[in-house]
Amino acid sequence: MAATRSIELKTEVPGPRSREILDRKDRVVAEPLSVYLPVVIAEGEGATLTDVDGNSFIDFTGGIGCLNVGHSHPRVVEAVHEQVDRFLHTDFTIIPYENYVGLGERLAELVPISGEKRVGFFNSGAEAIENSIKFARSYTKRPAVIAFDGGFHGRTLLALSLTSKTHPYKAGLGPFAPEVYRVAFNDVGAVEDAFRTRIAAEEVAAIVFEPVQGESGFIVAEPEFVRGLRALCDEHGIVLVADEVQTGFCRTGRVFAMEHYDVEPDLVTVAKSIASGLPLSGVIGRAPIMDAPGDGAIGGTYVGNPVAIAAAHAVLDVIAEERLAERGAQIGETIRARMESWAARWDEVAEIRGLGAMLAVELRKNGKPAPDLATAVTEGAAQRGLLLLKAGIYGNCVRVLVPLVIGDAQLDEALDVWEESLEAAL
Ligand code: PLP
Repeated sequence: MAATRSIELKTEVPGPRSREILDRKDRVVAEPLSVYLPVVIAEGEGATLTDVDGNSFIDFTGGIGCLNVGHSHPRVVEAVHEQVDRFLHTDFTIIPYENYVGLGERLAELVPISGEKRVGFFNSGAEAIENSIKFARSYTKRPAVIAFDGGFHGRTLLALSLTSKTHPYKAGLGPFAPEVYRVAFNDVGAVEDAFRTRIAAEEVAAIVFEPVQGESGFIVAEPEFVRGLRALCDEHGIVLVADEVQTGFCRTGRVFAMEHYDVEPDLVTVAKSIASGLPLSGVIGRAPIMDAPGDGAIGGTYVGNPVAIAAAHAVLDVIAEERLAERGAQIGETIRARMESWAARWDEVAEIRGLGAMLAVELRKNGKPAPDLATAVTEGAAQRGLLLLKAGIYGNCVRVLVPLVIGDAQLDEALDVWEESLEAAL
């Protein structure tokens, strides 16, 4: 292992104070809210966090992709403080505030959709997805939605209906929302077949896809596939929704993953890194679609909270000032090169997938998915001071959602620990 500069372990992991809090948690918090890493955070800064036992870790989980500008970026913290001192809430549709309008203007400039655009802000990724379907249904006056195998769009009823993973997300929670049709990802022919055998194209309001599928293990949409979806949507008057909740805000080496493609979606959903972990999401898209629902049909008491919006303005400042998209691309190259050396060394490192700094390794044993190996790697890494997340339909991928503000030395340190954990697990 390289000389450690960021990782500093003072106790075993989890330490005594973390264990005590986790014991209390078990007695009061509902069981389905199980904890993935047994490290109770005290403070976070950039790509590192310190737990309640004084241990310092490098954090590759990034709040499941919410922390592209890192933990507690000073610009974000300052903007939040400034807003907190002025007012916390009104409900924008009762008493409006300027920072909501300003964020709308900035995002309308940034999203890779041409022409006149509108925005609406919400709280969570799932809520943005639900609303994107409301916009599409109101505009097209059609009921059906097409989504894809391996897709993840959230946990509320319609979002969960679009989500494709049964365990742990869907099992036992039906009935699901009707008029959702799921087809194979990266297969335009599967959509065309669905139009013949399952739902007439003229009844489809929206096609919803992730440019890089997140939960199912960082599967990148092929350019031909995205082009094909655009052509089908144009031919049949369907709204194309790009779910950029996880891919957005520089993760893939561009501000939005759709910038890698030569076609435009009609609507983009955003959340996660938009406000550095404060609850904020949004839909940005073509004006006629976004203007279609009736007055009052879109909204919610807390949507577009002014404190979260202040954080989002700071995130956009950091993205521009720190050239975070370029940094995402650079980090991606460094990580990919290291992952490729693992693939060359170990048969179990079966595939490396992703775009920019949204990368995952898929682990297989004798050709079969190896979720136990992925667990051994993430657990071993946590013991060594690196926090990693799994992914994949079979839970056999280890993914990177590292803050993009990580320094080069920190990144090397983290990759050394990952390599050592992989070697130990194998
Ligand atoms: N869409 C995508 C692509 C996601 O990755 C997620 C969350 O992981 C969601 C939607 C749901 O977002 P939230 O958990 O904020 O509801």
